[in-house]
Amino acid sequence: MHLCARPLATTELDHELLWLSVSVSSVSLAGAWLAVGLPWPVCVFHQLTGLPCLTCGMTRCAIQFFHGHFLAALKWNPLIFALLCGVIAFDVYALLVLATRTPRFRIAFRQVEKRCVRGMIILALALNWIYLIAHWRDF
Ligand SMILES: [Zn+2]
Repeated sequence: MHLCARPLATTELDHELLWLSVSVSSVSLAGAWLAVGLPWPVCVFHQLTGLPCLTCGMTRCAIQFFHGHFLAALKWNPLIFALLCGVIAFDVYALLVLATRTPRFRIAFRQVEKRCVRGMIILALALNWIYLIAHWRDF
């Protein structure tokens, strides 16, 4: 893994601006959706099988997270909680580099490291699903 900081090239995609915009827009839309009382998303997998899917509890996790109830958010869906923490960290970083026009961090992985990261992601998904199935009566 190679981490470097460099200025954004003129033809390079501005990931910080793009993903910060997507993140803020998504949270704003979701907040507006719930604020006007539109129906919550329904999990077809849970309705068909009675078991939670990988993302079951995501809405409740996000609501608890954005109300500052972090332990409750963690209990609803640990993987989504970790994802939200990562998104917040990225958004803070993106806001800082955009505001200060400082060099951007980029990570380059070798092939073996990419396989290792994929394996860890699959393991995290599996462990999260096992946790959700063990607590499926909460849904
Ligand atoms: Zn689900």
